[in-house]
Amino acid sequence: MTSITVYDGAQGIGGNKIYAEEKGKGVFLDFGKNFGKYGVYYEEYLKNRDLRGIHDLVELGLIPKLNIYRNDLVPTDLRVDTYPAPEVAAVLVSHAHVDHSGNIGLLDLGIPVVASPLTLALMKGMQDSGVSSAETDAYYASPKMPTDESGLMLGADRKLPYTCRECICTTRPRDELVAFLSCRPGQEGPRAKKFQPADCHALEHVALPFAVTPYEVDHSIVGATAYILSGDTTIAYTGDLRLYGRLGNRTRDFVHHAKDASVLITEGTRAGHHPGADGGYAVATSEQTVYETCRAAAGDEKGLIIADFSPRNFERMDTFTRIAAETGRTLVVTAKDLYLLHALECADGTCRFPGLGVYAELADTTKRKWETEVVVGRASHQYISHRELRMNPGEYIVCFSFFDIRHLLDIKPEGGLYIYSSCEAFSEEMEIDFRRLWQWIRRFGLEARGFLLDANGKPVFDPRYHASGHASAADLAWIIDEVDPDILVPVHTANHAWFRETFGSTRIMADGERLEV
Ligand SMILES: [Zn+2]
Repeated sequence: MTSITVYDGAQGIGGNKIYAEEKGKGVFLDFGKNFGKYGVYYEEYLKNRDLRGIHDLVELGLIPKLNIYRNDLVPTDLRVDTYPAPEVAAVLVSHAHVDHSGNIGLLDLGIPVVASPLTLALMKGMQDSGVSSAETDAYYASPKMPTDESGLMLGADRKLPYTCRECICTTRPRDELVAFLSCRPGQEGPRAKKFQPADCHALEHVALPFAVTPYEVDHSIVGATAYILSGDTTIAYTGDLRLYGRLGNRTRDFVHHAKDASVLITEGTRAGHHPGADGGYAVATSEQTVYETCRAAAGDEKGLIIADFSPRNFERMDTFTRIAAETGRTLVVTAKDLYLLHALECADGTCRFPGLGVYAELADTTKRKWETEVVVGRASHQYISHRELRMNPGEYIVCFSFFDIRHLLDIKPEGGLYIYSSCEAFSEEMEIDFRRLWQWIRRFGLEARGFLLDANGKPVFDPRYHASGHASAADLAWIIDEVDPDILVPVHTANHAWFRETFGSTRIMADGERLEV
């Protein structure tokens, strides 16, 4: 017998945690962070306390009440042994966006992660170069121990090394990827915490409760994967996908194979959005349109150009690389971007460094071993200083996002162009961020493209500057019609009504609801 329990992600966009079970054993499809639920109680400076392990998250209902988490994250006042303990054979990760992978770090380290080589590389690279937190540390963890007699507080166990989660790679991993997964920059230091790697197997050599077939699909991050699970019943899971990007044909190939599935679990981020002028569906902005719009904006600008797009959107980085080449400029990315490009190269052998500049950030390098050991080691001659950008602004396009904007205080540009090429604000907090960004843009005399503030201080976006990572409503309808499932389970959507009205097979699930299929 096959069943599906959507523990999270059924009632909003992101935080997918879907458990598919076959004869008493199962797999999770993603185990993401639900930003919507977190935002009900928390904000940037009001966070769950790492020293209380999973206590705060369970108490507030931000993660499901299950007995599947790391033991060392359970303080003595939390009785997880009273919760159900499904037998989780693995977590299948669709892609490295945090709303799909950002709670994996909490799961028992005995639960392996299944992902594409590019996703594994990104998850590890993001951990090496990012801020550590028990939730988002998907691939390796710093084991904890009680720091008080009552066992209510948990701190790092300094004697134990970083411990890795076993990886199951959807294709045979390259030796370079295995090597990248097997060490952590800085681990050779005399006082450094050691690193205990785990095995990395190919999916074809691993037995799981379902026969799992991965399909690379197109999304706004590389390595995105959809899965088809074959057991008594066949289940297809889209993750996040779209049809109109560079790998659109891969998505079509997944849809073709999903025709045998009786259950389709699909994302619906853009369900019902953007009706066209004639009452049909509007045409989605393509990456080609983004290129043409941004290329025209760059035009004959003489000053510095700043391109603001989401980190890890490497297709957008390629778009701006092309614009930089055509306008005689060098594309300058952050050291972190370059480290992630190094990670991707370990996964697929493609060197993405040539022609790029690296912004020489004023930062404490003792805390950035990933930069000093890897990025400097490979690309020391590609560094561009803030002085160089100030002296020759017309020679560069700098890829900064909102959190890099502080560097303008060192560069001190006098005029230039700020191209916003990312998603629209979808919350009040984001609107406030755009008001802040506007102040920075104005302060340095930059001209904004892609968004502006209206008379009421509300950000207004130009849709031609950004191609969404998600299938348009028209494409979603095509995908669902092609697969023609007996049961359609929408997740990752705020528009259940559109599914219910459009497809008779729709089954809206509540968080935590179990469905036998
Ligand atoms: Zn995504």
